[in-house]
Amino acid sequence: MKVGVLALQGAFARHCEVLTALGAAPMEVRTPVDLEAVDAMVMPGGESTTMSMLLDSSGLRTPLAGRMADGLPVLGTCAGMILLAVRVTDGRPDQRSFAAIDIDVRRNGYGRQVDSFEDEFPVAGLDGPFHGVFIRAPVVERVGPTVEVLARVDTIPVLCREGSVLVSSFHPEMSGDGRIHERFLDLAFSV
Ligand code: GLN
Repeated sequence: MKVGVLALQGAFARHCEVLTALGAAPMEVRTPVDLEAVDAMVMPGGESTTMSMLLDSSGLRTPLAGRMADGLPVLGTCAGMILLAVRVTDGRPDQRSFAAIDIDVRRNGYGRQVDSFEDEFPVAGLDGPFHGVFIRAPVVERVGPTVEVLARVDTIPVLCREGSVLVSSFHPEMSGDGRIHERFLDLAFSV
């Protein structure tokens, strides 16, 4: 089970630690050749505008879109969620997303005062609440009919799944709790 972690920018190292603790084999992905070796992908938090540019300059955008169209399981967190959405409001005009899950998001949508916060919330299928760390997180503004909402905070979806694409507006790698990653590995490798 080789799990690629997009390592162009952002919070990729912590994802690798969580995946290793769960017995998966994480591999940092920076090039199209790296991508060929993996069976699933994590797209981390960071800065979606920068990551979007780096996806182009690294040559990863087209092969990654192709792998996702062929069903590559993907976990996208925060900026990763933005990059996997259909429509992004308040993005930079030149940033592009993969439309891998039928949601629309508003970048930095929680506003300035509360642009970083932590909260505990129940997650469908998990025993006990999850402690979510939100850092300039996107707000999910539309969820398509084929998308399952697994968790909400104040009615806003924060964890969504469609097929083997799982996205969170929070940073599950920062809570010392591997249950979201475990859920992703189940989703990716149980079929
Ligand atoms: N605000 C960032 C963006 O637009 C996302 C923040 C994060 O990933 N923690 O990409």
